[in-house]
Amino acid sequence: MRERMIMVNKDWKFSTKTIHNAQGPEEGNRAISQPIIPAVAYAFDNAEEAVQVVNGEGEGTFYGRFGNPTSRTLEQKIASLEGTEDALGVSSGMAAISIALLNYLKSGDHVVVTKDVYGGTHKFLTNLGERVGIEYDFVDCNELAAIEEKIKENTKAIYIETPSNPSLTLIDIEAVSKLTKERGLPLIIDNTFMTPYLQRPTEFGADIVIHSATKYLNGHGDAIAGFVCGDKETIQHMRQNVMGDLGQPLNAWESYLILRGLKTLTLRVDQHCSNAQKVAKFLESQDQVKRVYYPGLASHPQHELAKRQMDQMGGIVSFEIKGGVEAGKQFISDLKLAMISFSLGDPETLVQHPASMTHSSIPEEELADFGIPKGLIRLSTGLEDAGDIIKDLEQALKKL
Ligand SMILES: *Cc1c(COP(=O)(O)O)cnc(C)c1O
Repeated sequence: MRERMIMVNKDWKFSTKTIHNAQGPEEGNRAISQPIIPAVAYAFDNAEEAVQVVNGEGEGTFYGRFGNPTSRTLEQKIASLEGTEDALGVSSGMAAISIALLNYLKSGDHVVVTKDVYGGTHKFLTNLGERVGIEYDFVDCNELAAIEEKIKENTKAIYIETPSNPSLTLIDIEAVSKLTKERGLPLIIDNTFMTPYLQRPTEFGADIVIHSATKYLNGHGDAIAGFVCGDKETIQHMRQNVMGDLGQPLNAWESYLILRGLKTLTLRVDQHCSNAQKVAKFLESQDQVKRVYYPGLASHPQHELAKRQMDQMGGIVSFEIKGGVEAGKQFISDLKLAMISFSLGDPETLVQHPASMTHSSIPEEELADFGIPKGLIRLSTGLEDAGDIIKDLEQALKKL
């Protein structure tokens, strides 16, 4: 039999890695695409081997709640793309976020979190976090002094997200990581919007990288999954002592879909980015549009940081149309190609109006405090022809 394909080759460029890293023809049947292995139980040759695998001293799977061979392949692939020692695959992005936070925080501990964090992360801390006695402060993590001011004796982690949702504000990862290293605190970052193709936070000093694979990594809007990437010991601890206890594994079918989606990650993300740049430029030229938020525009206040930290500018474009909440609702309802949806990163162009959708629980007069203009629209640029997306936006803008 021919030798099995090299697992990871450091000289490979990113697109080659997305296809080949951690994957090769199956031993025995030579199948090139990854098999779906839903087995819950795994057999061992002897008791010693069983104990080694359970303790994480040997590679292998032992019980479905802690992983399966299909998800293990995907974990190794994601870790190799993020440049971390290991990764943990879990049942959703929120599972990844809650597992990472619960790994570092117990009752009485404190975390500093960037202020415009993903809504689910905000809710986890203010709802369940509060109930189990975790303390938190939401601060503008662009202000290093603001982070420093909130770090207390019981602070156990710093948590950021860049670019932010929906206002696409950036945080200088390197600057924040210098601070967290000085203080001996882990820096956790949600890298969902960028994927490892566009931004690898550990290169700038971050310790733990989180993904909602539901978005660009899978890229087809048909799987929910999340990943925590980090050093081997921390990931093993999360698997055994947080994820296993909460029971949030990634199943084999979802893992298969994501392994499949990942093969076209770079093709898809290139197209998302190139479409987003065209859409952002078009929107900037429109009278009915007050402001466009896209890191790829020279008008973005952090355009230089974006070029330093991100390889391309991503597929999300936010913009503010003239008029209030009603105008925002009317505009998205008038779109014909773009669909109104809460998700992002799919082949279809998806729009949402934060003031009436994701942030509708905030009273209108307080929206500005949360950095959400009433007419703000978030657009997840799809893989359609850029001209068709623009035409659709143009006809809906004309109706305003
Ligand atoms: C969607 C999303 C999440 C949550 O992911 P789920 O897979 O829906 O649980 C977390 N962070 C960001 C930035 C997201 O866009």
